Amino acid sequence: MAWVERFAPSPTGPLHLGHAYSALLAWDRAVANGGEFLLRIEDIDQSRARVEWEAQIYEDLEWLGIWWPKPVLRQSERLSAYRKALKELWNQNRLYPCTCTRRDIVEAPQEGAQILGPDGMVYPGTCFPESPYMSTWPFPENQTLRLDMDATTRNLGAPRLHFERYFSFQEAGTGPNGETGLIEFTADEAVKTIGDIVLARRDMATSYHLSVVLDDAFQGVTHVTRGQDLFEATKIHVILQKLLGLPTPVYHHHVLIRDKNGKRLAKRDDARAISKFRDDGATPEDIRRMVGL
Ligand code: GLU
Repeated sequence: MAWVERFAPSPTGPLHLGHAYSALLAWDRAVANGGEFLLRIEDIDQSRARVEWEAQIYEDLEWLGIWWPKPVLRQSERLSAYRKALKELWNQNRLYPCTCTRRDIVEAPQEGAQILGPDGMVYPGTCFPESPYMSTWPFPENQTLRLDMDATTRNLGAPRLHFERYFSFQEAGTGPNGETGLIEFTADEAVKTIGDIVLARRDMATSYHLSVVLDDAFQGVTHVTRGQDLFEATKIHVILQKLLGLPTPVYHHHVLIRDKNGKRLAKRDDARAISKFRDDGATPEDIRRMVGL
């Protein structure tokens, strides 16, 4: 079986020990299975992405002993593919425009407590159109577009007893609560706990979720190795894969590397930057040991 892994960092800061763990794990799994390792630069957030960080990523990964086919795929060069997918979904009546600010969402009146989903607060439906949205494509680029999760999942998942629809993916690692093996969730659960997520952000004409799903398929990725912080977001990815007719890779979520206070590392934790360890004389083997590989 073909085995294609990828590492997909955003060039918004230095790679730290957590990134090293993720990249080395994906690399080791590719090598152990006679597979391929790809690198993808996730630079759609042009307000935060910097070429200096991108250059540093290449340097750090090479130093760790990782290599990949060049040129790399950069998401900033894939905007027309994202737009094409949005148009397709628009024409299928799966998207609607939204003008809400974050504050509007938090302050919107609604029944019961607000639910925090994998993509922030579950959208209260303020801009949901009363009747099907009739405006034709092209839609202005600087608009937020949301996915109608109910209409999307109602007919998409596999049918089961009592006509309940469900979705699934294979987890080869573990989720934050030990979830492993076949992970299943229902359409109803997706509507209630994920809701109408943003697929096109006003400022970037795409979103992390849409881009990652399109690019994993475009690059022929069969195995995704990444942190447990993205376990719940995988449910969004599975729904989008079904909606866009794309294959679902096998997922391997891994534990997050934490600092000595138990806090997960962030980009701003410069002290844990790979380059810093390197400057202090550490070897790639030292880094492997530090992350438990
Ligand atoms: N670009 C994301 C990050 O740096 C990773 C996305 C993924 O692995 O799906 O956190």
